[in-house]
This record gives sequence, C-alpha cells and structure tokens, in this order.
Amino acid sequence: MENRTYTADAEPGDEVTVAGWVHEIRDLGGIAFLILRDTSGRIQVKFEKDEMDEELVETGLGASRESVVSVTGSVEEEPRAPTGVEVTPESVEVISEADTELPLDPSGKVDAELSTRLDNRTLDLRREEGQAIFEIRAEVMRAVREAFREADATEINTPKIVATGTEGGTELFPITYFGQEAFMNQSPQLFKQLVAGSNLERVFEIGPIFRAEEHNTPRHLNEATSIDFEGAFCDHTDAMDVCESVVVAAYEAVAKNCQRQLEALDLEAEFEPPETPFPRLSYEEAIERINATGELDEQLVWGDDLPTEGEKALGDDVGGHYFITDWPAEIKPFYIMDHDDGELSTGFDMMHPRMELVSGGQREHRRDHLIEGFEQQGLDPEAFEYYTKMFDYGMPPHAGWGLGAERLIMTMLDLSNIREAVLFPRDRQRLSP
Ligand code: ATP
Ligand code: MN
Repeated sequence: MENRTYTADAEPGDEVTVAGWVHEIRDLGGIAFLILRDTSGRIQVKFEKDEMDEELVETGLGASRESVVSVTGSVEEEPRAPTGVEVTPESVEVISEADTELPLDPSGKVDAELSTRLDNRTLDLRREEGQAIFEIRAEVMRAVREAFREADATEINTPKIVATGTEGGTELFPITYFGQEAFMNQSPQLFKQLVAGSNLERVFEIGPIFRAEEHNTPRHLNEATSIDFEGAFCDHTDAMDVCESVVVAAYEAVAKNCQRQLEALDLEAEFEPPETPFPRLSYEEAIERINATGELDEQLVWGDDLPTEGEKALGDDVGGHYFITDWPAEIKPFYIMDHDDGELSTGFDMMHPRMELVSGGQREHRRDHLIEGFEQQGLDPEAFEYYTKMFDYGMPPHAGWGLGAERLIMTMLDLSNIREAVLFPRDRQRLSP
C-alpha cells in the first residue's frame, strides 16, 4: 500500500496513513477513540464529534471491530494515549468490514478454547501472544540456520514421499504413488546419511516429518518439523557439541532480537539461554537418579525405556538441558553404532527438563554391522538396498541428530501444548484447516 506507515513509526508532527484492524472503539461521549492495530503495534485515532466532519466521524466510529481500515491524518503527542501519540484523522476508509459476530475475541479479553482458536487461526493470530510465538519461531529458524553455517554444514532437502520408512513400523502414513504403495517419511535419517557420505560431508535439513502416532498428547504432532544434522568424520560427542551450540544460538538470538515478543508473552523477566555445557549423564546414571527421586511407583531396571514421569522427575532433578548418553544398544535403532562391547550404544538424547528434544548418535558405517542391525530389528535389508549399497563405496564414520522444532519452541516459551507452536497442527482429530 502506497505511503503506508506502521503505527509504531508514527511520530508527532508526521502526516501519515496508517492501516490495520479496528482493535477497539472507546466512546466517551463528546470524544471517542478508535484503536487501530497493525503488525507493529497500536495507535489511537481521536474523533471529536462536534468539531469534525460528521461523515468522517460516522465512518470511523461505525466500523465494526476487526474491520480493516485506513486512516490518514496528523500525529500529535498525547500522554494519555496508550502509545503517547494519537492521530487526528482527515479521512477514514473502511477497506474490509468484519462481521459483528466473531468466533473469538482477538483482543484476548475473552478466553477461547484451543480448538476454536485453531479453527479460526487468522483471528487467533491477531492476538499479540500468537503473533509473538510465530515471530520467535522465525527468529529461531534464522538463528539455527546461521549456527549450522558456522558449523560448516550445508542445507539440504530430502524427499518426503518414500518407498520405505526409516525404521519401518506402524508409525507410517501410507499413500498411493501412481498405483504403488508409498509412505510419508517419518525422518530424513537415511537420506541425510547418504549425503553425509558424499563430498558435502556436513549437512542439515529443516523439514516436515510425518508420524502416525497412536495417541493425542500435548507434545506429539502427526506432522512436525525436524531440524536435522549429519556430519562425516564426526563421532557422537562432536554431534552433541553441534547440538548444544545450535540450541544455545537459538535462545541467544531470541534474547537479543525478540524483546517485544517476549514481553507480549510475559517472559521478558525470566528468559535466559540455557547454561552450558549441558551435563552429560549416562543412561545408567539417569535410571539411578530417577529411582532415587522416589517419584516412580516401580523402580526402573537396566534396559527400560524412560517413561514420561521418569523424564520429568530427572528433569526436575537436573534443572536444565542435559544429555543422556550410553543407552543400551537394544533400545536404540539399528543405524546407531554400538560401543565396542556391543552392549552400550553411542546413541544420545538431549533433554529439556520437561521432555525429550533430540535423539542422535554416531552411525554404523560398517556395512556388515549395518546389515546385522537390520535383521535384528526385523527389517528386510533388501528393501533398503538404495541405502546399504552406498556403504560399499567408501562410507566415512559419521554422526548426527534430529531436533523437534516445535518442541524447542514449546519448551523455550513454556507453552502447555505443542499445537501452540504450529500454525495449522495435524493431529488425530485435525486435518483442516
Ligand atoms: P518421543 O519418544 O518423545 O515420542 P521419539 O523418540 O519417538 O520421541 P525421535 O524419533 O527420536 O522421536 O525424533 C527426534 C525428535 O523429533 C524428538 O526428540 C522430538 O523432538 C521430535 N519428534 C519426534 N516425534 C515427534 C512428534 N510426533 N511430534 C513432535 N515432535 C516429534
Ligand atoms: Mn527419540
């Protein structure tokens, strides 16, 4: 729009055209205010009923809430106005009128159910909290890309329509691909390994993963965004170092560049990048510490996967981000390399006190070990020939990880439900919008 000024940039003495939504109309009798909202903030528009053109006053004050309007006028200082300035209008145009009945209140004064909000996401994201979450998410993605570039990694994109799942299993969404069965990919794992074995060596991908998760939970989506790293000539400790630096870079960027958004979320006082280095606990230490908290009804034994309550108890105990290393080989996937004794694996998880954020490890690059792993996991190596045969042509040792972007945002901003961190979430009940 020609000559449009953001409300935040309107300075006393300026002649401006501001455009946005009618946030509120405050009618005090002889004088009334239209609060106009745009992406940068809000501004007060003053209507003096007896002194201004009647039609102008009627148009401005007659606009329903959330209608899109454009106002041209002069900006003056006004200490009593919400932002210290106000606009005295010379002309007002209603560009797009809103229904007087709205499914939810974007001023946030009336709470709405999450499902109503998600059904009406456009209206919902007119609330400053919603706007803030997605501006922060964008800043996180920017910072993550920059951190990967600093780690010499090249951004890649791998296919999401695949012939076989990464780990097989029931978590796959089947689709029909020209009459042939195919799947939506649950992880870029095998593809990023194939690229790490090329001269690109260090790669990262930010893209969707699809999982037909059984249950609706506050931390699972059926379509999520995975931030993946894979590096040749890296071992699991190198991979953990990259993981830590990427996560810390995301927090630091938000602390530095998103003050306004943190304020909108009421987080500006407590927001801090996590302490480094993240403690690295072995799986064995982890189950001992969980058992010592006494929070679980039944003590964990070697070989158990960590239950959600166990993760929570340990998270409270540790109090910050941490790694769990040296998992029993049998509960980590076939493509993870085991330590020499074969009992422990190089797999690791990176945890926020509330939940798992990352799984990673050094990969098995020895073809014979890899094939054994497939068989142990009940997978047919033939179906993965496109993958395994590259291990015959010089596959370097390599390591990497996958980080759930929505879980990163959810834990960073203390959101109670992962759906808050996705524009249009996909879950068992939700396929539209
Ligand atoms: P969980 O046990 O918490 O369900 P997972 O171990 O099955 O996770 P991985 O396969 O290790 O998940 O995926 C790597 C990361 O991707 C996870 O640590 C998590 O951050 C993210 N992730 C995985 N599945 C989902 C999902 N359904 N929704 C959102 N994020 C997910
Ligand atoms: Mn995992």
